[in-house]
Amino acid sequence: MKTTQQGIRQHYEVLIIGSGIAGLTYALNLSELAPNTKIALVTKMELSASNSWYAQGGLAAAPDESIALSSHIQDTLASGDGLCNSMAVNTIINAGPEAIAALIKYGVKFDQNAHNLPDLVKEGGHTERRIYHYGDTTGAEIIRALTHAVKQLPNITILEFHTAVNLITSPQLAIPHFKPDVLGAYVLENKTGLIHNLLSKVVILATGGAGKVYRYTSNPDTATGDGIAMAYRAGAHVSNMEFYQFHPTLLYHPTQRNFLISEALRGEGAYLRSPRNNERFMEHYAPEKMELATRDVVARAIFNEIENDEFNFVYLDIRHKSREFLQQHFPNIYQTLMKLGIDMHTEMIPVVPGAHYLSGGVLADVEGHTDLSRLYAIGETACTGFHGANRLASNSLLEGVVMGKLAAQASLKDLEKPLPNYSAVKLWDSPSTVNTRRASQINAHWRGLRGEMTSYAGIVRTHAGLKDLLQLVRLRKAIVEEYYWQHVVTQDLIELRNIILVAELIVESALNRKESRGGHYREDYPQHAVEPRESMLLAGKS
Ligand SMILES: Cc1cc2nc3c(=O)[nH]c(=O)nc-3n(C[C@H](O)[C@H](O)[C@H](O)COP(=O)(O)OP(=O)(O)OC[C@H]3O[C@@H](n4cnc5c(N)ncnc54)[C@H](O)[C@@H]3O)c2cc1C
Repeated sequence: MKTTQQGIRQHYEVLIIGSGIAGLTYALNLSELAPNTKIALVTKMELSASNSWYAQGGLAAAPDESIALSSHIQDTLASGDGLCNSMAVNTIINAGPEAIAALIKYGVKFDQNAHNLPDLVKEGGHTERRIYHYGDTTGAEIIRALTHAVKQLPNITILEFHTAVNLITSPQLAIPHFKPDVLGAYVLENKTGLIHNLLSKVVILATGGAGKVYRYTSNPDTATGDGIAMAYRAGAHVSNMEFYQFHPTLLYHPTQRNFLISEALRGEGAYLRSPRNNERFMEHYAPEKMELATRDVVARAIFNEIENDEFNFVYLDIRHKSREFLQQHFPNIYQTLMKLGIDMHTEMIPVVPGAHYLSGGVLADVEGHTDLSRLYAIGETACTGFHGANRLASNSLLEGVVMGKLAAQASLKDLEKPLPNYSAVKLWDSPSTVNTRRASQINAHWRGLRGEMTSYAGIVRTHAGLKDLLQLVRLRKAIVEEYYWQHVVTQDLIELRNIILVAELIVESALNRKESRGGHYREDYPQHAVEPRESMLLAGKS
């Protein structure tokens, strides 16, 4: 059946794509600075669906004193493994105390100790206690408060279940290094299938990460790298795509996917055991630190065990702690596992490593400016160099709040500029597309891509594997691209198209980095190169 998806043209001053901590903070700050600004906040599921909602540990912010701030800066630089942008690190960390004050003002609650002071905790890689948290559901508490605050603002139109498809740009000119203006986005209304033109003076990409590029991930289904793919297609630069951080212990379960089993369990003495013989295998990989070795060492050890065995998981064993201790220290994990029929006091927990955080993304400064005018990227979608080659735990929520505020201030200038020329912008035109529902074909590409990325561009990489993978990914990309242009556009197809592009960018970057550093491990180059080299800049094709 031939069909069209043409929607209507809508005008706003600002279009925010994504409703995680970064997008919501931007919306609140801009509405304070310029209360009459007409904002559209587009999000592909319900307002609260985001990586931000799932954050467990908390938000890192040192007290407002020079020694404490400089220690947080040092820890961030150490974790970034030689590739942090020190300007971004200084700016974001120094803004930490203000970020906490702002969140509290928006109604976020953080745990307090017996003296009514913030109950600050410590996590891996931090030398001080500086993590603000709300039990082990900090992200859900932050998103609860921010979504409530955003819903009170009359200048914001919230469009839930709307998926941005592509950026709308000014006409391309055949001039060397020409970069177009961004004028808005084509946005699919998921329920009707119509694709609307949302035109605006400023576009904010706050679409989060891309964990779904791997088979196992802590990220929810929304994390498909849409913002990175859209920006790249429009001609923006992306960077640091080889640096994916893997979390060593996600729950391995047939129905409950993406559930993170916090590192704090190993911090409290949990053992890792092989399902083959119940042996503690970390003694073969890190005999001194055992289960307390760094995230990347533990993730690689588990990956190795799984690769060399018939099992797809290993066990995490904390049965030696009392039931009361487990209930008190890990209430969310304890209850979630119990609901799934796993009693962590009497049974071992099957776990697998999975993609957790993308340190790379759309090249941006701390104010979110990209190299396309009127386009900003903030939060996990952006690459400011704050995380370098590896993110320090709990620094990403901080980055989202700080960038949300700085981008709101910076974008005021764009709002003062005259309206861009929208006359050449066309409505979505798809008269020759057909509506054949080939869901199984799309699913096969998802499964294939995620499996290949996990095997060849996951925790352990080699030149030969990456080279083969690049061919596979490019073949899939060509097939799916053709499918996209010939078929009715659905959310699943948009996401598949985007994740394949993100996969290609990861593989190209990983091939190019002939060393191991931060979140990137090459079996054929297991050491650091002598000089840290900036990451490959991938220029989008404008
Ligand atoms: C399980 C887990 C635990 C974590 N724990 C911590 C922690 O303790 N501390 C910490 O600092 N960080 C933690 N992180 C990382 C942190 O949560 C994220 O880096 C951060 O929340 C990213 O925020 P964001 O606003 O950039 O993106 P997100 O919160 O992911 O929001 C992205 C938004 O964009 C929307 N979107 C995406 N594509 C489109 C599209 N095409 N059209 C419309 N909307 C779109 C999504 O639906 C979503 O609303 C954790 C992450 C996970 C998954």
